[in-house]
Amino acid sequence: SKKEGKNRYRFYSSELNIQNYKQLQLRHDLRMAVKRDQFMVFYQPMVRIKNNQILAVEALIRWNHPDWGMVSPDEFIYLAEETGVIVEMGKWLLKKVCEDQRYWMLKGYEPVYISVNFSSIQFYERDFVKSITDVLAEYEVDPKYLIVELTESLIIENAHKAIADIEKLQRAGIKVALDDFGTGYSSLSYLQHFNIDIIKMDASFLKNIMTDQTSAIIARAIISLTKELRIKLVCEGIENWEQLSFLRENNCFAGQGYLYSRPVPFLKIDEILEKGKCR
Ligand code: C2E
Ligand code: CA
Ligand code: CA
Ligand code: CA
Repeated sequence: SKKEGKNRYRFYSSELNIQNYKQLQLRHDLRMAVKRDQFMVFYQPMVRIKNNQILAVEALIRWNHPDWGMVSPDEFIYLAEETGVIVEMGKWLLKKVCEDQRYWMLKGYEPVYISVNFSSIQFYERDFVKSITDVLAEYEVDPKYLIVELTESLIIENAHKAIADIEKLQRAGIKVALDDFGTGYSSLSYLQHFNIDIIKMDASFLKNIMTDQTSAIIARAIISLTKELRIKLVCEGIENWEQLSFLRENNCFAGQGYLYSRPVPFLKIDEILEKGKCR
């Protein structure tokens, strides 16, 4: 009955209502977020394990919302995809990244490789590759300093188109990384069809290596597989020394995680890059 429905509604925790309210507001405000200059780029170093040298930085978007503070991408990327805002947002981010890259270049730092995430919606936009190379040209950034991060599932969605566009990116000089490796439903077979430059092993493997034999075995297998295929491997989610020594013992090439540095705003990464090393 109507009355019951009302009671049931009241029964929901206010916590849940706040979440719903937040989502509604975020969805509503997202459209204006670029114009209102509310997005920020945080950077997290990708580090060479044997000597702590910084190999690249990953750009991770943040939304500095006037009511909700710093909103994490997990709370708005899917909204941006649903509403199509992701395309404009992505363009903004790429420009910001190019601006920062140029700044560091002019400051005379060792060249900074920057890794940028692209979701399926962005990848399957018409002129995806051109939209990137146009921005690089506009900012006079050498394409070799850009790494495009794509996920496995995106590649499976339309393998033909993915193969073609990955080749196009690489012909333009851009590097391609496979993100969240090992989490998809995909098989390893597509590695034969692509010339992937970098693989990022998903954080879930490292999370469990100390307690779960299988995770450790798979992590070791991924390390040796990528070595034989001559693909650079970056292990995600290094949070503690046990995980780092596991990677050291297994001669893993590169890693990323809170143990080295959290994603940090521009001024902080600038300091880190000036040193050129993590820790
Ligand atoms: P991702 O690409 O897999 O990025 C890694 C995520 O793990 C980041 O979360 C990062 O802050 C977090 N992380 C890094 N090191 C550690 C660690 O040691 N421990 C733990 N627990 N987490 C760690 P973040 O920044 O919240 O981003 C979440 C996801 O949102 C990203 O996952 C990516 O898929 C997406 N994303 C972020 N920025 C963008 C963007 O500019 N465009 C698109 N399309 N997606 C983005
Ligand atoms: Ca990523
Ligand atoms: Ca990842
Ligand atoms: Ca992810």
